[in-house]
Amino acid sequence: MSITSETRKRLWARSGNRCALCRKELVRDDVDGLPGALIGEEAHIVARSPGGPRYAPLDPEARDGYSNLLLLCANDHTQVDAQPTRYTVELLENLKRSHERWVTNRLHPGPAGDDSSHTRAVVMVSGAEIWDLMFKAYGYDCGADEDADLTDAEADLVDDALQAFVDWGEIGPDVVSHGFRAMRDAKRSVHAALDDLTSAGFVVLGGERQGSWAGGTLTGKVALLRVVRADHLHRYVISQSQERA
Ligand SMILES: [Zn+2]
Repeated sequence: MSITSETRKRLWARSGNRCALCRKELVRDDVDGLPGALIGEEAHIVARSPGGPRYAPLDPEARDGYSNLLLLCANDHTQVDAQPTRYTVELLENLKRSHERWVTNRLHPGPAGDDSSHTRAVVMVSGAEIWDLMFKAYGYDCGADEDADLTDAEADLVDDALQAFVDWGEIGPDVVSHGFRAMRDAKRSVHAALDDLTSAGFVVLGGERQGSWAGGTLTGKVALLRVVRADHLHRYVISQSQERA
């Protein structure tokens, strides 16, 4: 068993091509016409073999699975493996989680549709629709419309809902493996978060674009979600069609 390309896409996409510890970018730009180098390392949280850092018995699939991997620069990989009592499994899992949240929250490229590779963003009317979009994606690009001018309370509401969408997307493959009932519960829970936004006067636009990671060696779908004020929606759609014209 080795790390599948599916797993590598998830890892690189959700890490934003950056080290989970120092956040340094892990793809070097082209130098003198030579292709950029990959300097990221796909580190195991629980070691692959007995005697390795943080070793515990795990089945081979889990050992090379997304949950047991962390994208690091070479320096931090060395340090993390040299000091397993400081860098415990729990600490590494927390660092990974907070890094991925940081990546999700920092991708704010403006309204969906501002890039020619974006598909048309459509109004998400159900939890099932959002869930389908999220669980099939490798990366997430979620945020509020830049013109929304949110109050603190609204910003909290939007963040909570988007985080719920991303969390459900991340565990999507596990949910699917638990069958229809688990999927139905997931969709319900996503729908509840969507309801919270709708009751507060927001609309969620969803779409997707192609993402590219690890210096272009990995590509896949990125889910886009934009939370827009319902009374801005009209304006929003007009500005999008003007861009297309
Ligand atoms: Zn680093």
